[in-house]
Amino acid sequence: MSDCIFCKIANKEINSQFIFEDDQVVAFRDMNPQAPQHILIIPKKHFANILEVTDKELAAHILVDVIPEIAKILGVDETGFRLVVNTGKEGGQTVEHLHFHLLGGRSMQWPPG
Ligand code: AMP
Repeated sequence: MSDCIFCKIANKEINSQFIFEDDQVVAFRDMNPQAPQHILIIPKKHFANILEVTDKELAAHILVDVIPEIAKILGVDETGFRLVVNTGKEGGQTVEHLHFHLLGGRSMQWPPG
């Protein structure tokens, strides 16, 4: 998607510091952090949201490999963290490229609001 900001970040058309990268996924700090650790994890391939994902291997890779590794990199694998996937208008999604928010470094509240 040529006008997608996260595609541009993943393709390195926009300068961004990745805290994690492999052939399918990148992760970088949210520019408006809601916690001491607030990371966005995105597939390099464009999917508008989680309902559009068709690649089961990629989905499993993100959940089974990438998220635990990033939690370790951030040092929140022992303390815990929150994973958020805002989806659609009422879900509060503002960027239409699938992204997982990983939030950590403080105690989270519930309900999230
Ligand atoms: P959502 O509201 O779930 O779609 O989340 C989009 C997130 O992307 C928000 O938390 C924004 O702060 C973040 N964001 C948007 N543009 C950028 C950017 N260029 N670099 C880092 N974070 C961004």
